[in-house]
Parts: sequence; C-alpha cells; structure tokens
Amino acid sequence: MAGAGKMLVAILYGPGQLRLEERPIPEPGPGELVARVRAATTCGTDVKMFTRPYVSSVVKLPSPFGHEWAGEVVEVGPGVEGWEPGDRIRAGNSAPCLTCRFCRRGQENLCENRLWLWGAFAEYIKVPAHMLKVNAQKVPEGLPFEEAAVAEPLACVLHGAKVAGIRPGDVVTIIGSGPIGILHAQVAKHMGAVKVIIGDMIDERLKVARSVGADVIVNVREESLSEVVKAETDGLGSDVVIEAVGLPATWEQALELVRRGGTVLEFGGCPPGTSIRVSTEKLHYGELKILGAFHATPRDFEVALSMIASGLIRVRPLITSRRPLKELPSVLESLIKEKKDLKVAILP
Ligand SMILES: [Zn+2]
Ligand SMILES: [Zn+2]
Repeated sequence: MAGAGKMLVAILYGPGQLRLEERPIPEPGPGELVARVRAATTCGTDVKMFTRPYVSSVVKLPSPFGHEWAGEVVEVGPGVEGWEPGDRIRAGNSAPCLTCRFCRRGQENLCENRLWLWGAFAEYIKVPAHMLKVNAQKVPEGLPFEEAAVAEPLACVLHGAKVAGIRPGDVVTIIGSGPIGILHAQVAKHMGAVKVIIGDMIDERLKVARSVGADVIVNVREESLSEVVKAETDGLGSDVVIEAVGLPATWEQALELVRRGGTVLEFGGCPPGTSIRVSTEKLHYGELKILGAFHATPRDFEVALSMIASGLIRVRPLITSRRPLKELPSVLESLIKEKKDLKVAILP
C-alpha cells in the first residue's frame, strides 16, 4: 500500500547518468493521488534526455525520469473527486496553467507556466492536483496499460497534423519511420491523405509503417526519397512533408520534397543551437509554408486516448518489447545503439 514502504524509481542525474534508487512510496496530499505504474513506454525524448543536455525549462536534473505511463490508482488525497482506488488512470506529462497569455489564446501547448510530470519509470507515481484536474483521463476497461501510455506521443502527433492542415486528397511524405513517423502516417490517412510515402534507413521500421497503412515505403539507403516522391506525384512534389527525425539535415531535405504551394511540418526536435538554410527563391516564388509544432493540448491527450481505445489508431505494433524496470539502463543503451526496437514497454 502507498505510504507504507519503498519503491524503485529511475533518477536521471545527467547525460548517461541514470540510477535506479529506492525511495519512499509517495503519499498523496490534498487534491493529489498516487498510482501504481503498470506500464511506461520509452520515447525519443527519453533517449535525447539520456544522451545530451536537454532544454532546462522542461526538466531540471536530477529528476525522476520517463513520461509515458498508465496505471492504477492506489490512494487518493483529501478533497479528490471523481477518482478512487482501483481506477485505471493515464496522466500528464504536462498541464498548462490555463491563465497565461498563451493559454488564454487557446495555445495551451505553448503555456508559459506549464506543470511537467516526470517519473513514469517507477513503481509508483504521484499525480499533482493541477495535473489531475487538467490532464488526466480514465483508461477504458479492456485497453492495455501499455497502449494507453502511448496517448502522449499520439497527442503531439495529432497537434502536429492539425498544424500541418492535412486535407483529403493530399499526398503526405514522412521522413523517419520511428514511432512518431508511424503515428503521423496513421493520422494522415485518417485526415484523408490518399497516399502516404515514408522513408527510413531500417527495414523493420518501414515494415511496421506499411502494416499500419503507409502506402509507399522507401529504404533511403537503397533508393532516393526525392526520386520516389517525384515519381509518385508526377514530378510535382508532395502536398505535405513531415520531418520526424529531428536533425537539421532532414529538416532541409523536407524542403526539397514539397511541391510549390505545399506545407512542410518540421516536427522532430533538433539539438539545441542548430539552424537550417532555406532557399529564399523557393520560399517566395514557391509559396512554401514551413511550420513547426510543439507538444499538445489537454484536448489532444483526451482525443489521443479515445482514438487508441476505439482502435482507430493502432499503437500495439509500436511496442516491440517488454522489460522490467531493473533493465531500464540497458534498454536505453540498446535503443541508442541498435535502433531495432520502436518502443519498449517498461513493466515495473
Ligand atoms: Zn514521449
Ligand atoms: Zn499557460
């Protein structure tokens, strides 16, 4: 029971410095609850935080680690309404303040005073009161915890797809067939894309993309993505191009694949301090729309969970293995080195 014992929790001290520590199981204060984490999925953001210094406004180290999770409520604090022990829950990883200038304009994903929730890679997690009010959902009966955890990246992808404004009939090209690229492929199909082309260097990942609905898969070690896009669009270029890798080189490549008047969504976050070159001629005479997208709103999280629960978006193929919490450090090492696994579900 919460409050009575110790739990195992992953603490990130800095790049490459991750320790599994014993800490007291948290106790819920007023408005808070404590949940037993039943599944936490790994994410590209975790890998970035583990390999290089990360944006300090997002996380201050040392910090509990991991942000995609779902579990069961074990204890609720005084004044909590609508939740009780035994409820299946998914929450976080962020809650906008709802009062800043951005929140008031409906751009909660850009909130200036956001509350973050880290610590999914642990046996228990405490959900703060504001998080519980703003960004927590009940996980429907029958939906596996590991699939509910993937609502976080899907929420970000849904936000990005809205920014990109994919329209029925569009050809959408995606650079990168990692978990994010594969989610983008599925969302693009639901928004009416007639053809989704996706490029990556790893066949296993491309096969997963194909299995969930991508129409054309391109191993960029063997074929030129730009030649394939030309061939598939009568030489015009893609209506929408989505970069889902997070490197300046692929951000620039995206600009080469889009048609005149088309849209480029630069989705993957690049290392801090980097920049890209844009042809002024292409931007002006080609009327390019080059857009960024960051994070998601609470509504996106809600929609994401319901799309997973209804089976509209398939996330099970993204979870390529399952490991106990103790193995987290070696799981992260292998995600960096081998890139074979898409997502690993950590089962504490
Ligand atoms: Zn994530
Ligand atoms: Zn705000």
